[in-house]
Formats: sequence, structure tokens, C-alpha cells
Amino acid sequence: MEPDRARLRLVSGIEPPAAPASRQVAGTGVPALGRVRLLALDAHGRALDWMSWQEATCLYVRGAVAWTLGQPCLSVRGGTSRATGLRSLVELHPIVAARGHAHARAIDPTPALTNSALFARDQHLCMYCGQGHPRQQLTRDHVHPVSRGGADIWENVVTACFACNSRKGNRTPTQASMPLLAVPYRPSWIEHLILSNRNILADQMAFLSSQLPKRRRH
Ligand SMILES: [Zn+2]
Repeated sequence: MEPDRARLRLVSGIEPPAAPASRQVAGTGVPALGRVRLLALDAHGRALDWMSWQEATCLYVRGAVAWTLGQPCLSVRGGTSRATGLRSLVELHPIVAARGHAHARAIDPTPALTNSALFARDQHLCMYCGQGHPRQQLTRDHVHPVSRGGADIWENVVTACFACNSRKGNRTPTQASMPLLAVPYRPSWIEHLILSNRNILADQMAFLSSQLPKRRRH
């Protein structure tokens, strides 16, 4: 009997800090269960996107999982079988490759240019004064101003604090005598995946790091 998806719930999850490294989170300790996301790959091992445990569970239940990497990191209980009286149990792995062609996506799509993604790319530092600032003081600066024909694309935007953005105004860095601390760039899809998840599990980080392009700015 297929589990009743509406009744799926987490019954156990990330172990306490004494657990194996594969179950711990890269960086800042153990996250709340609801924030854990699974890394979806296609059958060739290309990273597609993050998915929720609910989405991952659907893949397992449908038999659409081709292969997995890492030790199980979440357990999900489903409905009770009328035939056996047993509850189904699905163990989710941190990295899940799905069968077939679920996503007809380009190999390296351009991540959406949002302020959150931009500030994450620049590590929440102003690219003019080099200082870190609270989120509400950060702005999107167009290196070549839009009013002068500059485009709203990754290669023409940097994180700037409100003070630097105001000072620079409607000028280029050269005109304003405000040299950039780093050249803006378009993150690869892999970089985007790393930047867009604050609760990456150790197995996931190891996999993504191995796929990073050679060019690294930081
Ligand atoms: Zn600044």
C-alpha cells in the first residue's frame, strides 16, 4: 500500500553532534529538521537543485531513485499497511539521483539575480569599502550605471553599502575614484547551490566542492 503522503512526518533525523561526520552539517552545527534539504542529481550525477524531504520522499516512494550518496540522514514514516499492519519507513540520503529526465535544464543555467544571491556572492561585504554590513544597509550597485547604459546582469552588479552607493552616485568607479575590490562575476550553478543553502550537510558540501569550477575569486 502506498503511504498516505498527507500523513508523512519526520520521526528521526539529524543525530546529535556525536553522530558520524556525514550526518553533521558543514559549518554551523545541526540544523532544525525542517531546514534540511536534499541535493537532487540527475542520473548522470549532475547537480539539479535542492529539494525538500517531502519531494525526496515522493521520489523514493515512486521508485524514481536511481542511486544515492552518503549515509541516510532523515527517516520518514508513512501510512500503515492494511495488509500487514506495519508502517512504511523511508530513509532519505543527503544526495539523491533521480531516474529519467525530470529536468530539461541547461548544464550550467544562470542563477537568478536576486539581492539575496548577490549579497551571498559578495559575502555580505561592500565591494567598495570592504566592510561587512547588516543586510538592511546593503544595496545592489550597478558598476556601470543603468542610466548610462549599464545592464542589470551579474557581471555589472556588486554589493555596496548604502554610504558607498550614495557616494558613488551616477558615476563609474573610475569617475568616482572608488576602485572595486573584486571583479563581479556570474556564479556557476554549483556555486549558486552552495550560496543558496545555509544548512548544507557535510556529504553534500564535499560533493559540490568537488564540482566547483577552477576559477575562484575568494
Ligand atoms: Zn561601503
